[in-house]
Amino acid sequence: MKIICIGRNYTNHIEELKNERPTEPVVFMKPDSAVLLKQHPFVIPEFSEDVHHEIEIIVKINKVGKYIEPKFAHKYYDEISVGIDFTARDLQEKLKTKGLPWEKAKAFDGSAVIGDFVPKTDYVSVENLNFELKNNSETVQKGNTSFMLWQIDELVAYVSQYFTLKIGDIIFTGTPAGVAAVKPNDVLEGFLEDKKLFRIQVK
Ligand code: MG
Repeated sequence: MKIICIGRNYTNHIEELKNERPTEPVVFMKPDSAVLLKQHPFVIPEFSEDVHHEIEIIVKINKVGKYIEPKFAHKYYDEISVGIDFTARDLQEKLKTKGLPWEKAKAFDGSAVIGDFVPKTDYVSVENLNFELKNNSETVQKGNTSFMLWQIDELVAYVSQYFTLKIGDIIFTGTPAGVAAVKPNDVLEGFLEDKKLFRIQVK
């Protein structure tokens, strides 16, 4: 499986990092080795002093697709969840300044937290979902999918122009404002509406 991630999909997060508002989705990938195994802690890698949490709505692809039309994109996923796109911000800033690819800062081992999946039919619309990240029981990031620059269906269609989507692939759809560094002993909990879908200990 592969993990396709979208960057800069919420205006308030674009503003907090002083990034330019993109005219097309910003896309990058994580390999399957980036998945944080269930029940494992997240270990802050030695190469970074500033690893940020980014909670994101994620979707799991359920059939093979290429050049998917936006109006059919909803048929390519029926489970959703929340995840974390852990980002070594210090390293990413260096790479960005030099115009280099972000993988070392974004795709390292354990950088993809994947919550428990739930059927999207549990919700009225994927275009109006509240999600939230708590760190040590305090809310640190809060989002609603209605504030996405590109909605989930548009993203599925868009990325399928470049990458054939396969069963089990996961799309991370971007983070809202509130990203911040994690430190040892933090406990991160991700919520989709009122359901807790992951709990991660930081080491
Ligand atoms: Mg992200």
